[in-house]
Amino acid sequence: MSLTKSLFVTGVQCHKLLWWKVNEPSAKELEPDKVLQDRFDQGAQVGELARERFPGGVLVDREATSIEGRIKATQAALASDVPAIFEATFEFDGVRVKVDVLLRDDSRSLASLGMTSWRLIEVKMTSSQKDEHIPDAAVQLYVLEKCGVKVSSVEIMHLNADYRYSADVTRQSTDLFKRTDVTEVARAMLPSIPGEIVAQKAALAGALPTKPIGEHCGEPRDCVFLKRCWPQNADHIANLYNVGIKRASDHMAAGIHSVWDLPPAKTKNATVKRQLTSMKENRMIVEPGLGDALKPFDVPKLGFLDFETIMRAVPVWDGMKPHEAAPAQFSYHESKGGGEYRHDKYLAEGPKDCRTELVRQMLDATKHADRVVMYSAYEKTQIRGLQNSVPEFRDELVALEAKLIDLLPVVRENVYHPGFQGSFSIKYVLTPVVPELTYKDLIIVDGLTASVEIARLLFVSGKIKPEEHERVRQDLLNYCERDTWAMVRLLEELRALSA
Ligand code: SF4
Repeated sequence: MSLTKSLFVTGVQCHKLLWWKVNEPSAKELEPDKVLQDRFDQGAQVGELARERFPGGVLVDREATSIEGRIKATQAALASDVPAIFEATFEFDGVRVKVDVLLRDDSRSLASLGMTSWRLIEVKMTSSQKDEHIPDAAVQLYVLEKCGVKVSSVEIMHLNADYRYSADVTRQSTDLFKRTDVTEVARAMLPSIPGEIVAQKAALAGALPTKPIGEHCGEPRDCVFLKRCWPQNADHIANLYNVGIKRASDHMAAGIHSVWDLPPAKTKNATVKRQLTSMKENRMIVEPGLGDALKPFDVPKLGFLDFETIMRAVPVWDGMKPHEAAPAQFSYHESKGGGEYRHDKYLAEGPKDCRTELVRQMLDATKHADRVVMYSAYEKTQIRGLQNSVPEFRDELVALEAKLIDLLPVVRENVYHPGFQGSFSIKYVLTPVVPELTYKDLIIVDGLTASVEIARLLFVSGKIKPEEHERVRQDLLNYCERDTWAMVRLLEELRALSA
């Protein structure tokens, strides 16, 4: 059984997850969805851009040769005088690694000793160096040194949080990438690597490991098999309000597996209390204060605003930093009186910066509104961001920000239905409160997928067939419109409940 560095890193998170990945590769959970595929594509883009920073480097061809061929090509490159090798491939004791960048270390002291040493560089698309990068770097260091390569440093080359995109490259004050030296921590991990390799191989050779669930299920990222391993009963502690994987794991470590196991000291929060009462009595709980909480929404012209954003690892529009979100779509409903609503919408078309046009249309749509409803503070954050990126409309955007009013805290502090499952996301709240309205009839049903689809339309549209382009645009328009209509109907139902 051979391991790759990616399998090794998977095994560091959980042997059971590793076992499923290797022994059940066609599992439904492992099929890359659009969001995951987009992450792969962005990773490939970052990798290619990283290579441009090392002129004269050679790529060990992935397509044309077998593993053995790539290992041979790597050895030939090592023996040549190339300044850098990309995807240099090594194998030791059944562990195969491909190094993103192996950079010849030109340090004079080593050269004078007639020694060639190399800087091992792992490229990541995060905006900083993270703990999760260390096992990845350490297993590469282990294999390279076992293969006789002298490694002088280990570095993580990640995106630079200080970088700001400018179409005019002369105005870019800093590079897209930054390198962080992790030699010491990677070396400190070396003694544990052989034991971990043996343990992972043993786990793979046996039956499905019996790893208990815990904090590792969400670290460094949520495991795709959460639904297989975590209990799905409604009263499991993970379904308590404001309890994610980490807090649920802490509770379970203390012997609390169900919401009913909570000691009284841990049920004092009003929202938690309401949730427990609602679950016990299996009915919706509505607080008497709901009517007062809804009073600020009683204005003649009430608008409802929702954005969809793009968020690219490599920024695309002026002034943006890596992974910064920017609105590229909005939906807006506004009351006309008598239960009637007007709808306005905007969705960017083509790769050019849409923010000025989006702001222009949004300000025009919202100009008569007394208050504008949002669900969560996300829209406020985006409008604040637009105040900087579209400065010619700063005053108007500040005025719009002052009109914003958030419906989410009203729900969280006054209403609970067992169907919320501990969450106040509109996706969980909507149907229990407005039974005739769901997202199930839509193609796009979440913001992450919407973000990826918008980016696909705007930045790779040449590769999308015209009919698919139109269909995806319509799917996005339907999704964003549903978000604002959901707020409209939710508020109507809350008013009825308060009455
Ligand atoms: S859910 Fe947790 S225990 Fe199950 S495979 Fe994933 S990480 Fe392992």
